[in-house]
Formats: sequence, C-alpha cells, structure tokens
Amino acid sequence: MKKIALFPGSFDPFTKGHEDIVLRGLRLFDEIVIGIGRNASKARYFPLEQMISLIEGAFQHEPAVRVISYDGLTANVARDVGAKFLLRGLRNTTDFEYENGISQVNRYIYEDVETVFLITSPHLAPVSSSIIRDLHRYGQAVDTFLPYKLVDQPVSQQ
Ligand code: ADP
Repeated sequence: MKKIALFPGSFDPFTKGHEDIVLRGLRLFDEIVIGIGRNASKARYFPLEQMISLIEGAFQHEPAVRVISYDGLTANVARDVGAKFLLRGLRNTTDFEYENGISQVNRYIYEDVETVFLITSPHLAPVSSSIIRDLHRYGQAVDTFLPYKLVDQPVSQQ
C-alpha cells in the first residue's frame, strides 16, 4: 500500500526549512501532500493562492509531492487524502512541547494516524516563517530563505 504523508502547516511563507523536511520525507513516504491550513480567524501575510503556486513551482519536478489547502481538522484531512502519517519538523524544545500536544489530539481524532517528526537540519534551524514575514515587511530581501523566487506581488497587510 502506498505510504502517504500529510505535511500540514501554515506555510506563511513556505521556507527552505519546510522544503528540507519534504525532501527528506520523500525517502520515507511514497507521496507527500503539503496541506496549507486555512485559519478563518487569522489573516495570512502571503496570500494563499500565491503560496500554493510558489510551492507547486518549487516541486514541479517532484511528482510525489502535491499541494492542497484545507479548512477544519488536520486529522480529518489526513483521513480524506488517505494519509496514515502526518509529517512535522522539530527545531527545538518549544516546537516539541507544541507538537507533543497536537500529535496526541490528532491520534485521538484519527487513531490510525502517526505523526513522524524529522529533526531540522542544523543550518536551517533558525529559519522560521514569522522571522521571514518580519524581514519582508520591512523591505529586507528574504530569497535566501525560500526555495523559490518571490515575485513582487502585493501582500495582504495584516
Ligand atoms: P504551524 O503553523 O502549523 O506551526 P508552520 O508552517 O510554521 O506551521 O510549520 C510547519 C511545520 O514545519 C512544523 O512542524 C514546524 O515545526 C516545521 N518547521 C518550520 N520551520 C522549520 C525548519 N526551519 N526546520 C524544520 N522544521 C521546520
């Protein structure tokens, strides 16, 4: 049976840290579905449709990767896409505390799902979406942290 993993996140934006988790995950799984969670109560900085097409471009030569966006509970989306695994990255103990809680909840909702954690590659440990948003907001170039070229498009102002 095909091993499918859902890699859920906000990906606002998708970074080289995320790319590294996907590329390493491809050694473990037959297919990785990158799932961008939509959060009705939190506006994005990088628009969703723009991020979907940038991520698709970054993996255009990788047929085992696809990108979706979703509302609702991650565990239910995993079930819907046929994923028995959730893929997540761990940078530090703060990530661990957070991930520990959500992985328990996800298994409570969908008992067949296992979360697989990959430890960050050391050179990518400092890369975070929130820092990239702050840099970008104040006009600092961020391309070095991203696996695609950001086209100059207006971004939402929140
Ligand atoms: P969320 O909003 O769900 O935390 P993110 O988009 O911030 O989503 O991150 C998605 C996943 O990628 C999380 O598991 C996060 O810990 C992981 N991640 C983020 N940055 C890195 C990085 N530099 N190296 C490894 N994993 C990372």
